[in-house]
Amino acid sequence: MSGAFRIARFFGIDLRVHWSFFFIVLLVGMQGASHGAMGILFTVTLVALLFLCVTLHEFGHALVAQRFGIPVREIVLLPIGGVAVMGRMPEKPRQELLIAIAGPLVNVAILAVLVPVWFVLGGFETSAAVGQILESTRGIRIDASSLRAAAFAMLGFVIGANVMLIAFNMIPAFPLDGGRVFRSILAMRMPHAKATRIAATVGQAAAIVLALVGLSTGQWMLAVIAFFIFMGAGAESAAAQTGTVLATRRVGDAYNKTAITLTLEHRMSHVIEHIMTSYQPDFAVLNRGRLAGVITREDVLKWLAETPSLYDVYVTEAMREEQAVVRVQATMTLDEVTKVMEERQTRVVAVFEGEMYLGLVSAEDIAEAQAVLTFLNRRLAEGAPPPRTAWPMPMREAPRV
Ligand SMILES: [Zn+2]
Repeated sequence: MSGAFRIARFFGIDLRVHWSFFFIVLLVGMQGASHGAMGILFTVTLVALLFLCVTLHEFGHALVAQRFGIPVREIVLLPIGGVAVMGRMPEKPRQELLIAIAGPLVNVAILAVLVPVWFVLGGFETSAAVGQILESTRGIRIDASSLRAAAFAMLGFVIGANVMLIAFNMIPAFPLDGGRVFRSILAMRMPHAKATRIAATVGQAAAIVLALVGLSTGQWMLAVIAFFIFMGAGAESAAAQTGTVLATRRVGDAYNKTAITLTLEHRMSHVIEHIMTSYQPDFAVLNRGRLAGVITREDVLKWLAETPSLYDVYVTEAMREEQAVVRVQATMTLDEVTKVMEERQTRVVAVFEGEMYLGLVSAEDIAEAQAVLTFLNRRLAEGAPPPRTAWPMPMREAPRV
């Protein structure tokens, strides 16, 4: 995610903080500042503790995802919460259920530790409200009893925050954890796309209720969060429909069969000429029909930027070697190929039939195919006759070969 920088790395997952997060720390610190230096320390510690719980929650999702072989790229902390960025979505509803529930379960585990501690140490009697503690921290005055009271207030705050995190995240609305749990339970009984549609509709209804509650009680933050939930539900639904369309097509039908290819004898000047005179951004470099490498427009630009003298070298100097090119089989669906691209973080893959090279497919090709397929499906749904086209007609089910 852009605008986020790394602060730590655990279990092979980067923990990043978005810059806007520091506005919150600043805002909260300023609020505490009216109560002196201790006030600042107190409020900033509260924010740190809150986001420690959010981070642990996200690691709950991430570690369970890793167990199912799903790569987790990073965890990003935003002012409104955390996000675990995964390489792909879980395929089985059971996996999605367990990944989604793992986050809130971490907060349950935190409560299971803190609540008994709170009770043992005195619980309700000694725990003052955060506001009262802030009052008592006015001026720098550190003594045992006020520190003790502050510690209790913090403990109470963290307990309250974890209860809120569980309650909020379990609202059955996308993209909250509760929405994913709901979708996965539905998906065990019906097709994935239908489950998503139902869950997204329920999520948007929940968001509207939340927004009304927020607006009528003057809690603007709640209304803002409801807006994000509403948008998130729509996006999730759209993504699932896209997946459905792409699942009906094999990549073997979608690669560019008339693409210009290069050979080992071509030089960079030749590649640059092709890039300037054609719309084709990616070129396969062949050695007697076998794939030797791939060179993309980005590779060429990078080469131009990094090479001090523009001596006209062979294309092999700047291309990605065959071993570095991600392969997919022609029988794979576009949906599966998209997942491979996300997982391997590449926008170009080479399509093979067994050991035979067929052509290249890029993320842009798939986006284009998706636009056409969506249009064709809509036409078919409206009862239009199938168009006379070389492109085979959309199928109901993905072919399994
Ligand atoms: Zn979560």
